[in-house]
Amino acid sequence: MPNAEILITGTELLSGDRVDTNSSRIARALQSLSIPIVQITVVGDDRLRMVAAIRAAIARSEILIISGGLGPTVDDVTREAVAEALGRPLIFDLELFEAIQARFRALGLPMSENNRRQAFQPQGALAIHNPIGTAPGFIVEEASRILFALPGVPRELERMLMESVVPHLRKRFPPVEATVWRVIRTIGISESVIDERLRDLMEAENPQVGLNAHPAMVDVRIRARGATSEEAADLAEATARIIRERLQWAVYGEGTCAPEEALMAVLQARRLTLATLEQGTLGLLGGRLAAMDPEGQVFRIGEVRSQLGIAPEHAAEAIRRQTGASIGIAAEVLREAENFHITVAIATPKSSQSLQRGHRGPLPYAAEWAANAAIGLVWRWLQEAA
Ligand code: ATP
Repeated sequence: MPNAEILITGTELLSGDRVDTNSSRIARALQSLSIPIVQITVVGDDRLRMVAAIRAAIARSEILIISGGLGPTVDDVTREAVAEALGRPLIFDLELFEAIQARFRALGLPMSENNRRQAFQPQGALAIHNPIGTAPGFIVEEASRILFALPGVPRELERMLMESVVPHLRKRFPPVEATVWRVIRTIGISESVIDERLRDLMEAENPQVGLNAHPAMVDVRIRARGATSEEAADLAEATARIIRERLQWAVYGEGTCAPEEALMAVLQARRLTLATLEQGTLGLLGGRLAAMDPEGQVFRIGEVRSQLGIAPEHAAEAIRRQTGASIGIAAEVLREAENFHITVAIATPKSSQSLQRGHRGPLPYAAEWAANAAIGLVWRWLQEAA
């Protein structure tokens, strides 16, 4: 398989004014074709820097996808930079110009003299139709290299990527193997413990196993390759089974399953109920649990207070008794100068447990950590009490 690179352009992406989402979109599309990405570069709207970045990329990799800089204004320099990097002149394409004119007419937009710029392309380039915008993209082939230029507007980029670039690449580089991804989701167990238990799997080539940490949760990703999709799926399944055996209760689901979804399903099946009391957590704990229980069969009460007044360990027991719920949960996020001090506690008919942790901002992360850690405590108790 060839290697690919992504070149993102836009000065606003360097100043922090806008977050680059196009590179991950392009990366996912290339992953679906099993094309490895070896580098993602971001440059400002600077012709010379772009020329250097394009030359360096095509010296290393067979495929280059460029995002942005195809608009009509003088700071849109992708066309010029590609032409210069490849040593080709920019040629005015009358047919393309007429297509752009027709596009403006259809959209009822006035066309300015500047838009003529968009009908210039490096010699030998093939235009990529833009079905929802005015800036066309283009494809240029240079020896064994292939370069795509797409507009920066995410919606337009996405359409042209899926409708033109992916089919073109699939034809040019037919996949020689199938790839299957699985994501096993865990809660209540640390990344380092998982790392220890899965080390041998993580060192293997195929399937590849990797970890992705979230606040108080860790995903285990499996990527299996095989001659056919059945073979890849079988390999992934065998590894998933080993991971489940080794991580036991900590696995709560797969794919995009949220921990509160898995937790509520078990509570409902066992006819258990919940009540929550929280402070400083942005109401995340109760909000997320309540959203999974529209009929109110499991979730009794969720209180958000400005002060708990008592230690979370006692608050969990207090809310359990007050509401008659099977399980009481309390979560507290206290700000201490630059840090947050997080405590989560659960009280069940048989035992109580708590967890504490210091955390350096930002608050949404601390709040999410508290909510996930609290859900993790209940999840663990349910699995061990089973
Ligand atoms: P247009 O003809 O619409 O100007 P363009 O190819 O010149 O297309 P840009 O001017 O670079 O595109 O960007 C258009 C819009 O898309 C801007 O709002 C920009 O901030 C946004 N954008 C550009 N690149 C990215 C990116 N990598 N991720 C997210 N948004 C982006």
